[in-house]
Amino acid sequence: MDTSIAYDVVLLPDTDRAVAYRKRAADSGCSLMGVTVAAFDAWVRDLWELYGDGRAFVSRLEREALLRAACERAADGDCVDSESDKRAQLDGASGRCGLAEGCIAEGACALVGNGETEALGLDRVAAACVAAGVGLPAFDAAVRDAQQGVPAGAGALEGMTCAEVPVLRMIGEYLDRLAQLELIEPGQALALLPELLPQRPLHVLLEDAAPLTPGQEAFFSACPWMGVEVRAASGSQGPVRAPEGVRVRFAFPSGQYAWPALLADIARDALGAAADRVAAPAAVAVPAAAEVPAAVAAAGPAAGDDGASSCEDASGSADGYRDGRSAGAQAAAVVVAAKDPAVLFGRVAPALVRQGHAVALRGRRRFADTAFGRAICSLRRFLDEGQAGGVAHIEGYGDIAPTDVERWDRVDLADWALSPFSGMTRKAAFKLDADMRADRTARRSDLCARLRGDNPMFAAMERLALQLDVQAAAELEAVVRRMTNRSEAWRVEQLAALRALQRAADAAKLAGLGADAAFDQAKRLKVNVSRIVAPRGCDGAALGAPDVLVTDQNTAASLGSGSCKVLVATDLTSAAYPAADSEDASRVLLEHLGVKRADSALARMRRAFFALEHAATDQLILERCLNDSSADPTYPCVVLEEFVDCYRDDPTATEDIDNPYSLPERLQDGMLLRGEDALCANDALSDTPAPEAARIEPPLTGAVSPEARSLVVLPRVLQGGQVLDEPCLSPSQIESYLECPYKWFAQRRLRLDDLDEGFGPLEMGDFAHNALHSFYKHMSEDLGEAKVTPQLLAQARELMADVLARHKALQPHLRQSENRLIPTSQVEHRELAELERKLMDYLDFEAELLPTFAPKYLEYDVACGGAVDYAGHKLLGTADRIDVDGEGRCAIIDYKGSISGSYALGVREEGRLGKVQALIYAQVVRRTLGLEPVGALYVCYGRRKMISGAYDGRVIENAHLPNMRHKDCMCADRPFSDVLDETEEAVAAALERMLAGDIRPRPETPEACKWCPVSSCSERRG
Ligand code: SF4
Repeated sequence: MDTSIAYDVVLLPDTDRAVAYRKRAADSGCSLMGVTVAAFDAWVRDLWELYGDGRAFVSRLEREALLRAACERAADGDCVDSESDKRAQLDGASGRCGLAEGCIAEGACALVGNGETEALGLDRVAAACVAAGVGLPAFDAAVRDAQQGVPAGAGALEGMTCAEVPVLRMIGEYLDRLAQLELIEPGQALALLPELLPQRPLHVLLEDAAPLTPGQEAFFSACPWMGVEVRAASGSQGPVRAPEGVRVRFAFPSGQYAWPALLADIARDALGAAADRVAAPAAVAVPAAAEVPAAVAAAGPAAGDDGASSCEDASGSADGYRDGRSAGAQAAAVVVAAKDPAVLFGRVAPALVRQGHAVALRGRRRFADTAFGRAICSLRRFLDEGQAGGVAHIEGYGDIAPTDVERWDRVDLADWALSPFSGMTRKAAFKLDADMRADRTARRSDLCARLRGDNPMFAAMERLALQLDVQAAAELEAVVRRMTNRSEAWRVEQLAALRALQRAADAAKLAGLGADAAFDQAKRLKVNVSRIVAPRGCDGAALGAPDVLVTDQNTAASLGSGSCKVLVATDLTSAAYPAADSEDASRVLLEHLGVKRADSALARMRRAFFALEHAATDQLILERCLNDSSADPTYPCVVLEEFVDCYRDDPTATEDIDNPYSLPERLQDGMLLRGEDALCANDALSDTPAPEAARIEPPLTGAVSPEARSLVVLPRVLQGGQVLDEPCLSPSQIESYLECPYKWFAQRRLRLDDLDEGFGPLEMGDFAHNALHSFYKHMSEDLGEAKVTPQLLAQARELMADVLARHKALQPHLRQSENRLIPTSQVEHRELAELERKLMDYLDFEAELLPTFAPKYLEYDVACGGAVDYAGHKLLGTADRIDVDGEGRCAIIDYKGSISGSYALGVREEGRLGKVQALIYAQVVRRTLGLEPVGALYVCYGRRKMISGAYDGRVIENAHLPNMRHKDCMCADRPFSDVLDETEEAVAAALERMLAGDIRPRPETPEACKWCPVSSCSERRG
């Protein structure tokens, strides 16, 4: 370190490296008295504060907000090219521009986005142009000409397209607004500073430098009194072999399940028995005793402000806040550089801590992934009336606009309620969720009013989510500070997230934008996360250095050479580290103005990889997961391939690397592999067998244990309060058991019902049944007629219309348990109207049905309040309708919304019973009412009116049963009573099996499995 004397100013690419430089100087005893060591941006800021005109630097958030406001104004009509009269295609609300390739489209004036991901907003395209171009003469001149109405291709706008000129005009407006606000772009300051700085000799060293940007080059050439030396960062030309003495190893977990386990193995092996600083942890799993913000990582990675990045460090200041690890001392024994360090830390830290190691994290988390960010974003989605707006065209339903209920999602409120920021207990949160889901009539305004009354936290969160209320933010900050049941690191993270939102809110307010814009910006922010977890009995905060540091690649690269024993570079796939620069409209626009990109993604990756190679003193471990989360093969990133080529005799050959690892044989030595087959070991992150805490026998499936057999059918409470202890079943239960015993068990005994109040066949069926019951009741009471006949059709229709209207009005007043039918969307309203139409049309069919019979018993309780004997057991139930003729013969009618082949008697020829409900009722009615059953019929009121079931062909004429497959349903060769007896016998045998606990999955037809709630059934068919 000879620079302390030779230079007045040492500039480094970022704050991390500047801090590391200072520490290295301190460790080596080199004085930096009188030497400024800083990141370039921070240095310029300092110079501007000393010599500038008093204007403050605009922050990235303010820039984006002001440009968004300018963009919205442009969308309202300003952004029109004066020459072509064409208009940039903007979405006025958000300033989004159409997705296109990485250029601004000619003619259509579509403003463009990043072809690889989602469309960049026009504001962000403009922001990227401003950050890279403002202050450069060509850019400033183009902006000036665009504002003065010079046409595209003329003056300073030569080479510009007609779509780009309005963008430049908008940037001009933005710069004017900036001046009004007494703010300045860093690029403008850089251009002005040479005029303002005192012209005295200054020795400047750009250490570890990336290629200079055009703005930096212009600045230094305008300051000839500065002696500038540039020491380019090593590695730009590509990786080199690892330093002498550093062992290179490769690690290949085969997939995502093996990935954390292999990394934990690597860390453990590297640390060996090093963790002897603590009392040996208990053998059983003990959670980390301390989780505090790591002193080693007090503020996380550097907050770069390159103006083009899609995210911004939420900690605010880019200068002087970091407590970085001295490069002279080791940052940690093992440093793991990961693409997403927070995720990796969450997976491996608990296992390593259990084994006595202290593990630290330095990384960044998206605002929306923090607990606070998730909670406030969920609540905002719930409260935001505008969401799910617009009209959709749905085949068969036409244009559908969302109703109020559809504009909000119960899940959003539930997410908020289950967050630590709801102030609710888990029980209360689950109850709120269950209440909402069980009630289709729940209104957002009622829920808000209820929560506002009971829950001060909701009130504060609501004010913040809707109005970005400053007082609410202060209240929430106080709440977070009081959450002492959470770790300090967690609280710090949430406070950082809260401050990130406040900064986005401040920027939005400055630009005159609303909460939408602030939340859009906040979602793009990342907050620093840092923590250290240490074994019980060990003060993590007091540790000089953790055993393992998990961080991102850039931070690991900034730690300096020799900063750890083992460096593990993970995620070295082409997907995680693509070498190509993103192509977007800003790059194209700047190139049209001759502003070239100084640096490239590949060069940045090479420099980082070079630094990683030199960070380790003992081992460099390079990890690539062989398969991604979709089990597709991964490919090495470019720098990894380049690194491997350093060790090959002929990099153009392919045979030596034609293996799953793409490695020559000499690099396969000491390879670390892990497969995904050892599921438990991978999950536990350890190959050590877990101590057996308890042995639990696998549950018995397909049978009810002898002890529980008495509970297969629960006791019934009859009308009048009498409790019936002996097994008592309904025909529908019996039918369900016959369909599949296990399905019956799951539906009737386990009750795997949805929590949500439904709007489906069950509710529709109940509505139709009730309406038909009511209709016939009024037929006889009001019209004095029991049966619909062709002559009565007009009156019947009038009556049905009245019945349907009254039943519809009644639905909201029913209890949820009564399967009320509440439509909440336009689609559902149309489905209800369709059902009403079907019921109305059913009257024509009814007029032809069984003309010699008339409905006599409606919703008839066959057990008359008690229980009747059937198949050797007790039975109760209600028959939909019993029609009787003048001879004492009856037909049992069961209403159905749809009918399948299983309803016909003919299925018995296939050796199965088919549907039996109506046959059971017929047998019971034969005994209790003394009638002679001649039909057990299923009548469909659905779109296709039809009948199925069984009937006595010697009594009922085929013509009296329209739309029926008579040959499948008719019983003409034997008495109908034989069919009833035969059914009872078969049911008796089935009931014996049921009561003996036989609940094996045994579907009668594949159809049984269609709507079965047992999702993991080995017998599922169809
Ligand atoms: S999936 Fe089929 S076999 Fe399995 S329980 Fe359900 S109905 Fe029975």
